[in-house]
Amino acid sequence: MSNMKKIIANYHTHTKLCGHAIGMSEDYVKQALERGFLEIGISDHGPIPRSWMSPETYDAMWLSRQMDFEMYKEIYLPDLERTIKKYGHLIKIYKGVEIEYIEGYDDYYQALLKDLDYLALGMHFFKYKGKFCNTYEEMDIELLKQYALTAQKAMESGLFKIFVHPDLFMYNYVLTESPLVFDEICEEVAKDIIEAAIKNDVYLEVNAGGVAKGKISKDLDEYYYPRSEFWKIVKRYPEAKVIIGCDAHKPSALDDDALLDTLKFVEEIGLKVESKVMF
Ligand SMILES: [Zn+2]
Ligand SMILES: [Zn+2]
Repeated sequence: MSNMKKIIANYHTHTKLCGHAIGMSEDYVKQALERGFLEIGISDHGPIPRSWMSPETYDAMWLSRQMDFEMYKEIYLPDLERTIKKYGHLIKIYKGVEIEYIEGYDDYYQALLKDLDYLALGMHFFKYKGKFCNTYEEMDIELLKQYALTAQKAMESGLFKIFVHPDLFMYNYVLTESPLVFDEICEEVAKDIIEAAIKNDVYLEVNAGGVAKGKISKDLDEYYYPRSEFWKIVKRYPEAKVIIGCDAHKPSALDDDALLDTLKFVEEIGLKVESKVMF
């Protein structure tokens, strides 16, 4: 069996509505069929209400280039329905979004789930002391701990099925000179996340989109994400459910070298990976 055949599903798929991807759901479903997938979940960046933050913050968190609630209702959902009608007898298609968790708005997320099969938690930003912090920007110990706390609360809410790129918190952790630092704080954060995922039956995603971005540098044999140190800790928890996600921003990402490299990454660590998400 070729390595690629081990992957039979993907639940992390964007569309051009996010402003930095190409194709709509049908393009991805066609590619998934060609690849022989049994399931695909479409999960573009879900709409975050403007009322949750100032217009400046909304821009700074890249939300103005993604779909808003109106596009979600009028374009995204109808597009998914059309694709399901056309291809639903050939492949199981799930309707989802990738979305941040902001505490205090669980009703909003519940309302999204009336239209969708699942929410994927993606923490590109989070709230701390009344302000929004971008995960890609400099993170210190306090922010790392807040990332973990928010992730725990999100998973405890029961709203999320998958936590995508959970190890994004080390992207720009600048406590020391070396971007490769994985200290006891990182380990603590990792454990908090993994234990909350197990407790709340949330899948942890090894993100092939991060692999596609390449290694940190020629000399540092690590991706910004997925980070091997994080997944080596996951390996110590046999109950943890792990899934590979393409984070596809173009249809070809369902079948590319980054996906093969992601398989290699999990195999080198010896991680057990689920082939499908159980809904
Ligand atoms: Zn993401
Ligand atoms: Zn994504």
